[in-house]
Amino acid sequence: MLNDAADVIVVGGSYAGLSAALQLARARQRVVVVDAGQRRNRFARTSHGFLGQDGRAAAGIAQDARTQLLAYPNVQWLAGTAVAAQAQEEGFVLTTAEQTLRAQRLVLALGVVDELPAIEGLAERWGQSVFHCPYCHGYELNQGRIGVLASGEMSLHHAMLLPDWGRVTLFLNRSFVPDAAQLAALAGRGVVLEETPVVALVDQATLLLADGRQVVQDGLFTLTRTRLGSALPEQLGCALEQGPTGSYIRIGATMETTVAGVFACGDAARAFGNVAISVGDGALAGASAHRSLIFS
Ligand code: FAD
Ligand code: MG
Repeated sequence: MLNDAADVIVVGGSYAGLSAALQLARARQRVVVVDAGQRRNRFARTSHGFLGQDGRAAAGIAQDARTQLLAYPNVQWLAGTAVAAQAQEEGFVLTTAEQTLRAQRLVLALGVVDELPAIEGLAERWGQSVFHCPYCHGYELNQGRIGVLASGEMSLHHAMLLPDWGRVTLFLNRSFVPDAAQLAALAGRGVVLEETPVVALVDQATLLLADGRQVVQDGLFTLTRTRLGSALPEQLGCALEQGPTGSYIRIGATMETTVAGVFACGDAARAFGNVAISVGDGALAGASAHRSLIFS
């Protein structure tokens, strides 16, 4: 019923998309959420730092939000992947494997995908003992031994921040050579340097080095490369920004992209994101999409 004539289609039904859809649902708009179900933090057991939900299962937060959203009769949920989107004279057409949907506005809440460093044993430990966000998972390491696996010069930020969470060793892994000022800054923060390349991760977060040594750590942080969760923004012609880990969708103050009628929120529309920011940005994107139906 809604399929052919939604007011707004939200692509991505995780924190940002759920939050956008909730505002639109409450404005009695006909909303369709299309979601492929690949939440970025699905590798982690718990989520931290989101007010009122600190330490809860990441899946539980999203599940409760979805249950509350779907209580609104004007919301429809489609499990699946949106594969194409196009602007028409009036509104947009969006295609999934099964159907073609039409709406007057789009909200892109499609997240990013992490491309992990290619080190044996790392992928299995992602979200368990290997992380990228100190604010999300640093506290639980109890001021223990923290490794930073460098992936480039940006890893200096990790190494400089993380001493507030534990005793830090920076594994350079031939990814960059710190200059004298950087070495002094690292020393000032008590960071130990390890230049021998890393060949694998074993046990919880023990690094196996090329010379055969094993360095036991309680947790490991590394910066991933990120790419947008889907090619839809490019198909629609949305301008992108280049962030330190990858590109993201350019937005203005109301979360509208450079394509009129297309809004974006969450990790897909920021250089760095988390759950709280995604929920806030989603609420703004949802309300802005609604207001644009009236005022533009
Ligand atoms: P996502 O959660 O990535 O969701 C995007 C959704 O869009 C997915 O369901 C995806 O399948 C869907 N999608 C994409 N393309 C399409 C398409 N074409 N069609 C249909 N659906 C599509 N943050 C915290 O605040 N606290 C934490 O403790 C925390 N821990 C983390 C642990 C790990 C290991 C990682 C990787 C991240 C963690 N984060 C944490 C960050 C958090 O996961 C993200 O900031 C948050 O998930 C972003 O929400 P989002 O809605 O923007 O995108
Ligand atoms: Mg989302």
